[in-house]
Amino acid sequence: MIWNEEIETMDRGALVALQSERLSKLAAYVYERVPHYKQAFDEAGVSPAEIKSVDDVTKLPFTTKEQMRDSYPFKMFAVPMDQVIRTHASSGTTGKPTVVGYTRNDIDMWAECVARCFGMSGAKPGDIFQNAYGYGLFTGGLGMHYGAELMGLNTIPVSGGNTARQMLLLQDFQTNLMACTPSYALTLADALNGDGVDPADLPVRSFILGAEPWTEVMREEIEAKLHAHAVNIYGLSEILGPGVSNECIEAKDGMHLMEDHFLCEIIDPETGEPVAEGEVGELVITTLTKEAIPLIRYRTKDLCSINTEKCVCGRTHARMSRVLGRADDMLIIRGVNVFPSQIEATMLGMEELSPHYKLILTRKDRLDALEIQPEVSEDFFREVDGLDGLKNSPKAKALTQEITKMMRESLLVGATVTLIPPGSAPRSEGGKIKRLEDQRS
Ligand code: ADP
Ligand code: ZN
Repeated sequence: MIWNEEIETMDRGALVALQSERLSKLAAYVYERVPHYKQAFDEAGVSPAEIKSVDDVTKLPFTTKEQMRDSYPFKMFAVPMDQVIRTHASSGTTGKPTVVGYTRNDIDMWAECVARCFGMSGAKPGDIFQNAYGYGLFTGGLGMHYGAELMGLNTIPVSGGNTARQMLLLQDFQTNLMACTPSYALTLADALNGDGVDPADLPVRSFILGAEPWTEVMREEIEAKLHAHAVNIYGLSEILGPGVSNECIEAKDGMHLMEDHFLCEIIDPETGEPVAEGEVGELVITTLTKEAIPLIRYRTKDLCSINTEKCVCGRTHARMSRVLGRADDMLIIRGVNVFPSQIEATMLGMEELSPHYKLILTRKDRLDALEIQPEVSEDFFREVDGLDGLKNSPKAKALTQEITKMMRESLLVGATVTLIPPGSAPRSEGGKIKRLEDQRS
């Protein structure tokens, strides 16, 4: 079903006019309310009065994750704190999370976007929805939850993990729709199979999958194994959380962006200039209606392309391709963003370690696993009497445990830690250091 027929099938001319009107109001709104924007606009030599249509957006300065981090926790807020009714946070690059706040209108807008995603994914009121996105500070769980309730789905807030319970609910509650990460969908398929449950016998029609990159090959495998549609949902906390875009089951050819709320551009990440229509570049989003933390030209760092052709489903909103890569070094491990710089910052200054390390990404039981290999200092290596001691001495074991605990607290995702001898981590040979070994494929 199309949740909001009027908006989602709107003539593109009218859509662009709506975006222009909203952009012009937004420019004045942020200039007046957020010191960061007043300064950034002044530095770029642009006044809000110049912003009359979407074409003027390129006059505005970009906003980056670093700037959001520098404004930690609340400096980017455009409303008094008593109007903020929810705060979420996502992983930042240095241990401090990026904070996002929502007014009541923001929460309603988010739910509306997610309800549209459900419509695109083949949901209808009365369906049973099993929400295996994580609840908590992350935006995934509650974001999906409010949209599901708005549509009138029977919403089961099971949250992530606990495969045995997920399988039980899928069967006993007769779930029609489920949201989780694509890698978890494969884990679930294997577990069902292992338990002798044939997914073809389950009434689940669609898996709504996002929070991490995946491929068409994975879609084929998931759909074949689970006998259901696998649709892609995209979002990021800074902008909203899940619900920025979603595929329709009719086409499964790109994710419809909620363009009445988000003005999207694709730029060359090196030059910042717009690329030609249909070409791959970095997605840049301006939030047109958000009240608590409106963002001007936010650099998502996600590489993709945009197609504005009308879709077979009848929707006119443009479609973004799958996320094809990142313009930075962010890793996504079990749906959680992890930056190598964050790992580095956590270990910084530990005298048992050298400043060098190696990261290894593997896929265990279909889930991504991260191994951190910090290089120990010459002194520490001597203290534990060499290689054998590095593996077996109580001192080395205690250090390994300590680092593991620090990483869990700072990255919000588990990683195994293996100490390696001095000189064995990669060093820079002039160019970029290749610290990451991706053994997933
Ligand atoms: P979430 O909780 O949705 O993962 P975050 O803000 O933590 O939100 O992470 C957002 C990032 O996750 C995006 O910038 C993108 O890199 C990645 N991401 C989210 N959804 C998808 C998707 N469907 N495909 C690929 N990457 C995705
Ligand atoms: Zn469509």
